[in-house]
Amino acid sequence: MELFDLHCDTLTECLARSIPASDPTLGIYPVPGDDFPRRAQVFATFIPDELRGEAAYRHFLAQRETLLSQQKWISLCTSMEDAEKAFSERKIAGFLSVEGGAALDGRIERVGRIASLGVKLLTFTWNGECELGYGALSPDLPLKPFGLEVLSACEREGIIADVSHLSRAGFWSVAERATKPFVATHSNADAICPHPRNLTDDQLRAILNAGGLIGLNFHRPFVGEGEGTERLLAHIRHICRLGGEKQLCLGGDFDGSDQTVYPNAAGLAALYEAICIHENKELADGIFFDNANRFFSSQLS
Ligand SMILES: [Zn+2]
Repeated sequence: MELFDLHCDTLTECLARSIPASDPTLGIYPVPGDDFPRRAQVFATFIPDELRGEAAYRHFLAQRETLLSQQKWISLCTSMEDAEKAFSERKIAGFLSVEGGAALDGRIERVGRIASLGVKLLTFTWNGECELGYGALSPDLPLKPFGLEVLSACEREGIIADVSHLSRAGFWSVAERATKPFVATHSNADAICPHPRNLTDDQLRAILNAGGLIGLNFHRPFVGEGEGTERLLAHIRHICRLGGEKQLCLGGDFDGSDQTVYPNAAGLAALYEAICIHENKELADGIFFDNANRFFSSQLS
C-alpha cells in the first residue's frame, strides 16, 4: 500500500506540543513510514481565524520551520522528481500548503514569496472571513476582489488553488475564473453527508471538469453516521458515479480532527482492503496514490 494524502495538520500539532513528526500519538503515525514503499503528504500550515496580519504570516513561517526541522523523516518537495528522491531515501515526500489565505496579510506580492518558500497549494480561507473571502460558515458570500487577484497570482506562481473550507459562493468564484485545475484537498460529498464543508454534486462535477482532485476527509461530521469505512465507501461510490475515479484521493485531516474514522495512517489498511474487496484494486491504488501522483506530476514543474 502506498499513500499520497492531500491534507494533515501535523505541523500545527508538532509546533504546539514541541514534538517530532515521529511521535506515536500523531495521526500521521507511523513515521518513518515503513508500511508505505512510497509516501507523499501535503502538510498544511494552518492559520486560525483569530490570527490576522503579520502574525498570520509569521505563524506560517514557524510551521514551515517545523517541517524543515524534521528532515530526518520528511523531505520538503516542490516536484515529483523531488518526491522520487525522497521515496528512494525512505522519507516522506512533504509538500507544503497554506491553509488560510490570511497568511498573505492582504499583500499580493506575498503569493510569490510563499511560492519561493516552497508552497504548492493555498486553501483560500478557513471557516471564517479573511482578505480573500469567506469560509463555509457564510455560504452565500463570494470571493472578494483580492481573492480573485490571488487566484490569478497563484496560477502564475505555480500554486494550486484549494477550495476546501471556502463558502459555496466563493467556490463558484474560483470555478468561474480558474484557468488551471483546482482541488478540494479535504472535503466529502454533500449528497452522502449534508454539511457546509462537503461538496454538492455540481461542485464535485466542476472540480472534475476542471481536471482537479477531491481528497476524502476522515472527520466523522463530514463522513456521516454509521460505520466509518462503510460510509467512506458510500462517498467513494458517489464520487465515482459522477466520473471521479481517476481524480479521487485522500485528504484525511490527520492531526486536524478529534473525531476521526482512522486515528492514524496505520489504520488506513482497513480502507484500502475494503475498496479492494468491494470495488477493485485499481480504484484503491488510484485513491491511495496514483491519482494524486499523476496530477502532481503534470501540475508541478
Ligand atoms: Zn481544514
